Amino acid sequence: MSYFMEKSDKEIFDLIQKELVRQNEHLEMIASENFTFPSVMEAMGSVLTNKYAEGYPGKRYYGGCEFVDEIETIAIERIKKLFGCNFANVQPHSGSQANGAVYAALLKPYDKIMGMALSHGGHLTHGAKVSLTGKMYQSFFYGVELDGRIDYDKLADHVQVVQPNMLVCGFSAYTRTLDFKRLREIADSVNAILLADVAHVAGLCVAGEYPNPFPYCHVVTTTTHKTLRGPRGGVILTNDEEMAKKIDKMVFPGIQGGPLMHVIAGKAVGFGENLKPEWKTYAKQVKANINALATVLVGRGFELVSGGTDNHLILMSFLKNSFSGKDADIALGNAGITVNKNTVPGETRSPFITSGVRIGSPALTARGMKEREFKIIGNWIADILENITDTNLQAKIKKEIKELTKDFIIYDRAIY
Ligand code: PLP
Repeated sequence: MSYFMEKSDKEIFDLIQKELVRQNEHLEMIASENFTFPSVMEAMGSVLTNKYAEGYPGKRYYGGCEFVDEIETIAIERIKKLFGCNFANVQPHSGSQANGAVYAALLKPYDKIMGMALSHGGHLTHGAKVSLTGKMYQSFFYGVELDGRIDYDKLADHVQVVQPNMLVCGFSAYTRTLDFKRLREIADSVNAILLADVAHVAGLCVAGEYPNPFPYCHVVTTTTHKTLRGPRGGVILTNDEEMAKKIDKMVFPGIQGGPLMHVIAGKAVGFGENLKPEWKTYAKQVKANINALATVLVGRGFELVSGGTDNHLILMSFLKNSFSGKDADIALGNAGITVNKNTVPGETRSPFITSGVRIGSPALTARGMKEREFKIIGNWIADILENITDTNLQAKIKKEIKELTKDFIIYDRAIY
């Protein structure tokens, strides 16, 4: 196969080829990452990137939108079917844009939002002070207890004190099931809007492997690139017609211009995959794999926040170990296992050092790995952490990983 880029821009072409090798030879275990479908990559590299389509299907500000109208409508219908809801906006460029649009559409500046603290597993856009969401709104935070779980009674009391206009649930690092029904009761007790940001678990929700936030949440946002395995992007969902109208106006023309039609086509293709019966098998395997890994790590004496997981991720806690999350992240990285350091409940180290790592199973599951491979990986992780300064061991495991990954090649080329 010959590539235009190889001739016109060898420098970037070569770097993309190197990234393919990195993705193939490493064990990608960052909980928010995944390997999208080659068909999604084809949509994103298509002629659709040329098309301006400000507006919405049937109401565009540009001509020539007859085909992109159909594509966007298909994306909308598919994601509505997946979540069983009535309205969808598939134009947000990212999860952060989606959340920003919801706040701006449904709140006034300096209204109160209350979300899970970043250090307890929330996301920046849930009101963190460094995020615009923490500057434009008064933000308040709840967290998890030392057992790694939300105490809903405590949250209910806290909400009474804060009286937020919007309660945000959802997370980047929480290992247990969210009780959406209870969260709605808590939101209703102060007439707050309940927003669920299910970016991390959306792929499990649509497979019935994690609760659906509908009908309990007023608005749901998600990224499309994590457990859903679609292109990078965001969507906003609701059953409320009035909110839907406000959200559409806020996404365009409120905070965005032309929608990325090539990405929206990628979303449609990805949602098509999510609707297939095989998707349920994938989602089940994601959970089976992370549980196989958790069992090995607990068996080897390591501590997991909340003792395990209900979803696709675990949090290892090193509060009782002499090494930090940063040390673990580096040692595992040296061996070719990519994770990220993470704060844990009862954290004693700084956010740059931390006492934990977050590990997820979606990406390796997409490569076809099953419990057998996750048990091997669990033992490698334990070996490395038990001998954290042993760089020879890291080098040896790196070679073994290279061998293992040869049987799980997901892309035969870097550019689709
Ligand atoms: N919401 C949650 C819960 C996330 O974990 C993330 C990303 O990690 C986002 C939103 C933001 O998504 P994006 O990186 O597409 O802006």
